Amino acid sequence: MFQVIRRFATSVSNVADIVIIGGGPAGLTLGTALKNSPVTKHLKIHLVEGGKIIEPLNSFLETPPPNYLNRVVSLTPSTIGFLDSIGAWSHFNQERTQSYDDIVTYDGVSGARMNFEHPDIATMVETTNIQAGLLSRLNELNSQQEVKLVIQEDTKVTSIAKDSITQWPTLKLSNGDSLTCRLLVGCDGYNSPVRHFAGIESRGWSYNRWGVVATFKFADTEFRFPTGWQRFLPTGPLALLPLPNGYTSMVWSTTPELAEMLLSLDETEFLSMVNAGTRLSTEELSMIYDLAKSKSPDLLEQIQWRLNLFAGKLKPADEENFPLQVSEIVTGSRARFPLKLSHADTYVEDRVALVGDAAHTTHPLAGQGLNMGQEDVKSLVGALERATSRGLDIGNSLALEPYFSERWPQNHVLLGVMDKIHKIYSTDFAPLVAARSFGVDVLNSLGPIKDFMVGRISGNSKR
Ligand SMILES: Cc1cc2nc3c(=O)[nH]c(=O)nc-3n(C[C@H](O)[C@H](O)[C@H](O)COP(=O)(O)OP(=O)(O)OC[C@H]3O[C@@H](n4cnc5c(N)ncnc54)[C@H](O)[C@@H]3O)c2cc1C
Repeated sequence: MFQVIRRFATSVSNVADIVIIGGGPAGLTLGTALKNSPVTKHLKIHLVEGGKIIEPLNSFLETPPPNYLNRVVSLTPSTIGFLDSIGAWSHFNQERTQSYDDIVTYDGVSGARMNFEHPDIATMVETTNIQAGLLSRLNELNSQQEVKLVIQEDTKVTSIAKDSITQWPTLKLSNGDSLTCRLLVGCDGYNSPVRHFAGIESRGWSYNRWGVVATFKFADTEFRFPTGWQRFLPTGPLALLPLPNGYTSMVWSTTPELAEMLLSLDETEFLSMVNAGTRLSTEELSMIYDLAKSKSPDLLEQIQWRLNLFAGKLKPADEENFPLQVSEIVTGSRARFPLKLSHADTYVEDRVALVGDAAHTTHPLAGQGLNMGQEDVKSLVGALERATSRGLDIGNSLALEPYFSERWPQNHVLLGVMDKIHKIYSTDFAPLVAARSFGVDVLNSLGPIKDFMVGRISGNSKR
């Protein structure tokens, strides 16, 4: 259990310039970027991760699992550019990534649609592929450098205090070690022990929604350009995002009750339910949800009958307005995650910085959470490079402040936009549906505004 102790005097066995807590995407990117930079590569850096990562990540690259994993994220061109600039992108298993040029969103109530088109607007990558590629690049950098980044895996931070003499953060680790550092960076996720230690408030709320994820294969082998699909249902969006070889990664954001129902279905029923979710009217879906909740033996037949009816009415020209049906599920790929908005009041305190989910979490509807963390890393590394080259103490708030002032406002705007989109679409109240659909139709026909939105989605626009 993590414990915050404000102050203890201890004999320090290990002193580092920077200690990064968390070996998720944010922590591994930060470590790699710092070791890649000619300005910061000499710094003594430790990365402490509670789970085992080294063997699983190495074996992901050496002997890739036969099936796609269920934690898949959509990366923006800006994130990929950054990963490339630190030499990491080429270490990813490229055959397991899928870029696409087109995202189609459609309203589950009114049918209003919007297309976002841009070359390589997003690329789907398994989170493990991201971590494995970064670790591989880190190993390469370590092999070339005298001062190596030390990874302490399977080791939890159990307490953090200020050293009684230096006032630097001093960590006690579950393996009995202690570590003192000039700068402590929390890349330690939503429940961030580092944020608690620094006494930084995080504000927000639960969306009272779960993201149900699963991996499927599309039914037809007919050629279609890989496309991202998102249908906004009043209970939350259902997204089908492309993976290589006709596979697709689903995130169905929905109420706790419906998430429970989706997880209780057998895999054949679940598959049919997903096809229903991408096509049938919200009235039909409500009826089908009730059948599923009551464990009706007619569920599959009812869904199939309605899907056939839908297909019969669809004009051939309109077929491409919907994703292909899914026909196969990767066994055991179903899981669910709670969705919440949170934003820390600040990202920096004296000798402390927060990065990624430790600083902010968001609804996955625009696939921005991890991408925001990557932009944080880029900005923090820039601030540390400037501080180092000017001879400043990297743990000093003067050195860290530019990171906060650059990233907090940008993240705040994005978090707000995603929250509003969630709220606007979480209703089937007719006047609001009409207003949002009118808005979408107008936006879809206004080139410059759409271009601006595409820029935001793809991470190519800063304002
Ligand atoms: C359903 C869903 C879909 C998503 N889709 C997208 C998407 O398409 N695009 C996108 O950009 N984002 C997406 N996200 C968000 C994205 O997954 C997260 O933003 C990202 O994984 C956070 O990375 P992180 O490294 O900041 O934190 P985490 O991945 O949470 O890593 C934190 C690490 O810290 C470690 N840790 C915690 N406490 C301690 C301790 N005491 N001691 C040692 N180690 C500790 C943990 O073990 C963990 O490894 C999605 C999220 C969800 C739920």
